Amino acid sequence: MKIAVIGAGAAGLAALRHCVSGTYGNQVVCYEKTDQIGGTWVYREETGSDRYGLPIHTSMYKSLRTNLPKEVMGYPDFPIPGRSESYLSRMEMLDFLNAYCDHFALRSYIRLLHNVELVEPVAEDRKWSVKVRDLQEDAVVIESFDAIMVCNGHYFEPKIPSIPGQDIFTGERIHSHDYRVPEIFDGKKVVVIGAGPSGMDLALEISKNANRVILSHHLTETIATVFPENVVQKADVAELTEREAVFADGTKEQVDVVFYCTGYKYNFPFLADSCGVRVDSNMVTPLWKHLVSIENPTLALIGLPYYVCAFNMFDLQVRFVLRHWHGERQFPARADMLRSETEEATKRAEKGLQKRHFHMMGPEQGHYYNDLANIAGIEPLPPVLTKLHNESSMRFLDDLVHYRQDRYKIVDDYNFVQF
Ligand SMILES: Cc1cc2nc3c(=O)[nH]c(=O)nc-3n(C[C@H](O)[C@H](O)[C@H](O)COP(=O)(O)OP(=O)(O)OC[C@H]3O[C@@H](n4cnc5c(N)ncnc54)[C@H](O)[C@@H]3O)c2cc1C
Repeated sequence: MKIAVIGAGAAGLAALRHCVSGTYGNQVVCYEKTDQIGGTWVYREETGSDRYGLPIHTSMYKSLRTNLPKEVMGYPDFPIPGRSESYLSRMEMLDFLNAYCDHFALRSYIRLLHNVELVEPVAEDRKWSVKVRDLQEDAVVIESFDAIMVCNGHYFEPKIPSIPGQDIFTGERIHSHDYRVPEIFDGKKVVVIGAGPSGMDLALEISKNANRVILSHHLTETIATVFPENVVQKADVAELTEREAVFADGTKEQVDVVFYCTGYKYNFPFLADSCGVRVDSNMVTPLWKHLVSIENPTLALIGLPYYVCAFNMFDLQVRFVLRHWHGERQFPARADMLRSETEEATKRAEKGLQKRHFHMMGPEQGHYYNDLANIAGIEPLPPVLTKLHNESSMRFLDDLVHYRQDRYKIVDDYNFVQF
């Protein structure tokens, strides 16, 4: 098969590694629009647009350390090498991805500075047309492929809630996608909107520079972790005035900056409508197993589920897809795939989850991994990954200030130890 991989981040590298493994003898091209591999782990000081006029992809900030231990962050057959710390810096993660790329000799398949502009199915010959711009030459090429793995990442298109009064607010507004260093908040009063992993982490990080940090969220319970004294928690921001944030409980505070830590939108700007993939309130449909386009099963979207052991899951998803594309497993009938997706949506709705949570895994991740492995008859992921991921997530919520000092070691497929 001739396969196009779009993006050379952690997911694209996993896709490439299995596509070229020799098992199937595929012909593969990986397009990457930036000048290096690593995706969101590549730190860039610049924000806004790059020299080619494309939006900056990475959301990485200077001081970032991983929010998961390295023991769950590697690939199944290429773990992150041993050193005592479990929580690594962004540089160590990027080094790891480069080491992976070299170990599996992937570089020659990657076309850097090539931006995929359009992907369309070609009905007559059941192939895909991919329109790519070579950014250095400013030349457009159209190539034909049998199958597409979309690995363009999910943390580059900011989701910004619409808050009444935001246009008359005279202070600054910034989304975490454009955040790089805490000095921009020196001496300021900042309202951080959102208490997901980034909101929590960033409230803590900027508290060393900001005068006061108000962490605004709608979690039903106050977050248990003990923040520094200049961080307070408040309800949602109901309205902004020229200089103030008005909270849902009726209280008001004067603020200098609104810092949106409100997450990202799934976005596939290069997929033509005829690809048959829709995004509705951050639910990507119609997909089989959060992964395979039901309308065009030779199109796979790698990496949609979140709160997962990401690189391990990318590897599993790629192996799952390849088994089907190469006929070792048959895709179910279209109606059965649609039914399976609807059943999952119904189950999630019954649990009170909204559409935007459709791809959230967390405690469910082990079921998802086993489901993929069972269906495709491939090596499963060891249960210890889910166990350690859940442990680390609990520690994050309980003791945000210190949890990164924890050190873990995986002892077998089921157990880890902390030391
Ligand atoms: C600030 C931050 C911190 C994080 N911390 C953690 C953590 O601690 N642990 C963890 O497991 N996960 C973390 N994540 C999640 C992280 O995104 C994933 O772990 C993983 O790196 C995602 O890999 P990816 O390949 O799917 O996407 P990305 O890394 O975003 O890579 C996508 C690639 O596709 C390229 N691309 C996009 N569009 C095109 C196009 N049209 N043409 C060509 N190329 C294109 C991009 O340039 C990019 O290189 C974090 C994310 C962020 C934003």
